[in-house]
Amino acid sequence: MDEKTLKRLENKLKKIHDDLGRQMQILGKEIRQEMPQDSEDALSAREEADVLEQEDLIEEVEIREVEEALQRIGDGSYGRCLDCGEEIKIERLKALPYAKYCVKCKEEREKE
Ligand SMILES: [Zn+2]
Repeated sequence: MDEKTLKRLENKLKKIHDDLGRQMQILGKEIRQEMPQDSEDALSAREEADVLEQEDLIEEVEIREVEEALQRIGDGSYGRCLDCGEEIKIERLKALPYAKYCVKCKEEREKE
């Protein structure tokens, strides 16, 4: 992979990281606000808070993947499949800059 492409993907990853961080902050606030103590809506608010917490979890996983990808850029292993060591296609990285596996290995994993 050439420097320019790598740089571009790195910037993209950093932006995703920033966006996710911001979203998680907002979600965190909403989760705290969705907790009325003695309202009739307490139950539905509780359910809504559950959904928000679920989203929060998904973003936590995603942000970790982004951080790992940035680490791999740092140590030079970025762009290679963690399973087979082959280079991940650039089209795939452009669509999902924190992809860890090539399409083949990912499909293998999903079969299991
Ligand atoms: Zn692979």
